[in-house]
Amino acid sequence: MTADAAPPAAAPGGGDLEPGDLLAEAGAMLDDVVALRRDLHMRPELNLDLPHTQARVLDALDGLPLRITTGQRQSSIVADLDGDRPGPTVLLRGDMDALPMPEDTGLDFASQVDGAMHACGHDAHTAMLAGAARLLAARQGDLVGRVRFMFQPGEEGAGGAAVALREGVLDATDGGESVSWAFAIHQSPSMPSGMVATKGGPLLASADELHVTVRGRGGHASMPHYANDPIPVACEVVQALQTWVTRRVDVFDPAVLTVGRIAAGTTTNVIPESARIDGTIRAVSARVRDEAQAAVQRIATHVAAAHDMVAEVEIVQGYPVTVNDEGAADEVLATSRWLVGEKLTAPMPTPVMGAEDFSYVVERVPGAMAFLGTRPPGVAPAEAAPNHSNRMVLDEAAMATGVALYAAVALRRLGG
Ligand SMILES: [Zn+2]
Ligand SMILES: [Zn+2]
Repeated sequence: MTADAAPPAAAPGGGDLEPGDLLAEAGAMLDDVVALRRDLHMRPELNLDLPHTQARVLDALDGLPLRITTGQRQSSIVADLDGDRPGPTVLLRGDMDALPMPEDTGLDFASQVDGAMHACGHDAHTAMLAGAARLLAARQGDLVGRVRFMFQPGEEGAGGAAVALREGVLDATDGGESVSWAFAIHQSPSMPSGMVATKGGPLLASADELHVTVRGRGGHASMPHYANDPIPVACEVVQALQTWVTRRVDVFDPAVLTVGRIAAGTTTNVIPESARIDGTIRAVSARVRDEAQAAVQRIATHVAAAHDMVAEVEIVQGYPVTVNDEGAADEVLATSRWLVGEKLTAPMPTPVMGAEDFSYVVERVPGAMAFLGTRPPGVAPAEAAPNHSNRMVLDEAAMATGVALYAAVALRRLGG
């Protein structure tokens, strides 16, 4: 990768800013950042309507020189910070929503809401972004242009970023320019605390749902020839889909197709009328994503037809591939080298197959997402509970790096 050969970065904006100063400023506010994160962690909220979270973020931004608007159809917050001189608008994004699952971390500040948990660390993203707003507000004089802080709900499936785009989060307002560049951070307990990782090109996969119902004919389990049993046919569909993945998809432009659920029947001696399979399709290019959707339709329909059955196929379109701009990813890596050094900066060789609705933002403007390592010190890599685990914990000390990285990226783009 080109980023591997990049020289150590100069200060953001070419000024005399020292990385130690920025990290110290972020470190000085870590207690406040942690307090906000823990408050949100105890009160996780789901999907697009996050009234408590929105109120707490507005409290955290109170008194800063920001122009704040809130979403019409969701609990989003857009806060603009103008530098002393006009210039481009850079967007920094943090997501705010939790997951519908129980928490089993045993933390003092564990979720107090039954069936909801901040298991993806969006509470940390929100708190870091609020911290970055405070840090950059104190450095308003260093900014040529505008920083737009985008706090969005609904990342975990509800598409809050798409709603925010429809509500004009990239638009020019109040005499400023439209957003021309965007940056986001996602924490990762899979990486050492404080490490920053990203890559140009595809960073995260598309994620679509597949639902197939194979319709046969019910009957007595002892006399299958009087019925038409959909269960072995549904199994054949699952196998044929895996054969498609391994035999028809270029290994260097991969797809993952997982059937996560298969359901049919009621008891041992009855052949049911139908069998259903549900799964997810991941790809890192639009081409393979389209081919996979077509393959599910074709394979399910024809395997069923081969057995005198019908398959009903539904594909639910999820998030597209998150594609980092190459130049933006290089800039983030250079900023990271300047801020935390070579050892804690990791150009990624491959994408990961999770998905993100930040994809909608970087479809519209160049930008990049980076991962921030949050594995607690002393925890072995294999022992660290990953994102979406009921036992996921993150090292809060890494949030100071996150605050400083948000700020450093903005200062690099908008430094005078
Ligand atoms: Zn998640
Ligand atoms: Zn997430």
